[in-house]
Amino acid sequence: MNDIEWTTAPKTKDKPIGYQLKRCPCGSTPPLIILSDRIIGAELHWLGGRSSPHLKHNCPGCLAKTARVWKGYLAVIDPRTQQLSCLEITPPCVDALNSYAAAWGSIRGAAIRLSRSTTKANGRIKIEITQSTYATERLPQPFDVHLLLEQMWQTTEKTNKPQMTTPRNPQAEKEAAEETDPILKREATLHEKKTTPQNGEKIST
Ligand SMILES: [Zn+2]
Repeated sequence: MNDIEWTTAPKTKDKPIGYQLKRCPCGSTPPLIILSDRIIGAELHWLGGRSSPHLKHNCPGCLAKTARVWKGYLAVIDPRTQQLSCLEITPPCVDALNSYAAAWGSIRGAAIRLSRSTTKANGRIKIEITQSTYATERLPQPFDVHLLLEQMWQTTEKTNKPQMTTPRNPQAEKEAAEETDPILKREATLHEKKTTPQNGEKIST
């Protein structure tokens, strides 16, 4: 049995990160402190009763012709409970986060509070982002949001990764679609018409 590769811990990619996904409830979240220094996001399909990420190749959601909706994610800590979680944000939140980053250098350490403008579960989300009194160097390091999402979506295989992006830039999206197969290209064009243009760039993963 000389071939066994003994280790003292599972490889990082196999170790469940296990933080909860936090979505804006009806009402509002408590003030949370952002640990991430950037937003990671992807377009999602609602498929089979759950969210699943849009994939670059042979995407089941595109094949089923379901709409694509961009969601962003941030590692956050609740300062009252010290609980870490992964906060889901929507495209309208991105401009506020980018403005904050432009003004203060980073979103890490900022206080964020999401609320819904209506009592409907799918009402528009309002974001409040303010400076917190927490020194960034004393905050915990952010956990790997990218890995958490891949574990949640169970798409860790290298061949067909979710396309992690900031909100869609129609021109960049069109160029990307042209490099993919004809079905995806057609779907991207269909969905593009429904999407509000946003400035954003792709994050390579
Ligand atoms: Zn898709």
